[in-house]
Amino acid sequence: MIAADLRNTSRTCPRDECGYVAAQNRPTQDTFHCVACGHRAHTDTVGAVNVLRPGWPVAIPTWVSEKPPLHAGEE
Ligand SMILES: [Zn+2]
Repeated sequence: MIAADLRNTSRTCPRDECGYVAAQNRPTQDTFHCVACGHRAHTDTVGAVNVLRPGWPVAIPTWVSEKPPLHAGEE
């Protein structure tokens, strides 16, 4: 069983073709640098992307699947 740990979202490469998870991906608290593919990003961005990506069912908040209609109120 793979448990999606929210703390790992900031250690996981946000690139779909990579997804490498390692503490070494976090050279500093605010910096993400994937040791596998070299992808760089701010950790806030990385965490947000990884929480929303498929494959993290435990980490996805319920409101994600309850998007309001795009044209609410136009009909
Ligand atoms: Zn990577």
